[in-house]
Amino acid sequence: MKVVTTIKQVREQVKSWHQSGASIGLVPTMGFLHEGHQSLMAAAKKDNQKVIVTIFVNPIQFGPSEDLASYPRDLQRDKIACEKMGVDLIFCPSTDEMYDTHFSSYVDVNGLTDALCGKRRPGHFKGVCTVVTKLFNITQPDRAYFGQKDAQQLAVIKRMVKDLNFNIEIIGCPIVREQDGLAKSSRNSYLSESERLAAVCLYQAIESANSMIKQGEKSVATIRTAMQDIIAKQSLAKIDYIEFVDLQTLTSVELLEQDSLCALAVYIGKTRLIDNFIYYHYYS
Ligand code: AMP
Repeated sequence: MKVVTTIKQVREQVKSWHQSGASIGLVPTMGFLHEGHQSLMAAAKKDNQKVIVTIFVNPIQFGPSEDLASYPRDLQRDKIACEKMGVDLIFCPSTDEMYDTHFSSYVDVNGLTDALCGKRRPGHFKGVCTVVTKLFNITQPDRAYFGQKDAQQLAVIKRMVKDLNFNIEIIGCPIVREQDGLAKSSRNSYLSESERLAAVCLYQAIESANSMIKQGEKSVATIRTAMQDIIAKQSLAKIDYIEFVDLQTLTSVELLEQDSLCALAVYIGKTRLIDNFIYYHYYS
């Protein structure tokens, strides 16, 4: 496994892989890797001859009051995790390598970014789309792997790839969870012991919504109230949003009569956690 920090080094490696006809799978990450990231690597490994993992905490996707400075980092541990998964190349550039002083071009996906996290984190998806575009251009993959954990991000990237004609297949991978149901996240490392226990409320709310849906409940208002009640039981939890949106357009739905995404963001103490589930109308 090679670990490189410059765009030039990636280009050299990718060129030789392309010349030998090898297919390339890309897994973009911000590091502090966990089993969620490793599931993307496993999927990439299965589909491609070569796997590139990028590790870059992208400053332009963080708002001014967000956790850029404190975001957890551990490159040594990440290298071991990638090695274990049979990754071929890690690209871990510095901020200067990715953004020179005169950097001034951005990729902005409209519409899909108006709701959910896009609404609460202005500029976030512009930062995400810009860095992902750069990583696509640098690594020239055949396929790129993203987690359903960040459902809006996955939808936005798929839209961007279609709109801008990237010749890259976008593969969404299921949410990997802890034993008690908490979605794995690098940000879980911020949680104190009591916060970690409280954090299970996101999954409990999802489970309760799913069981109401199974029993035939279609009203978003009713389901949302039940989810709010579960989360309200945890004094450390504060809801940022619980929204039900159309799976394709991400516009608000009031009745579950189409494929829908239920997404939620909840502060546990100071840590903002997100989770979601998809409702498929066809199967209900
Ligand atoms: P991050 O390092 O948090 O930016 O995440 C990098 C990629 O890993 C994104 O595509 C995430 O959606 C994905 N990911 C993060 N957590 C999980 C998880 N629990 N299950 C599946 N994929 C995940």
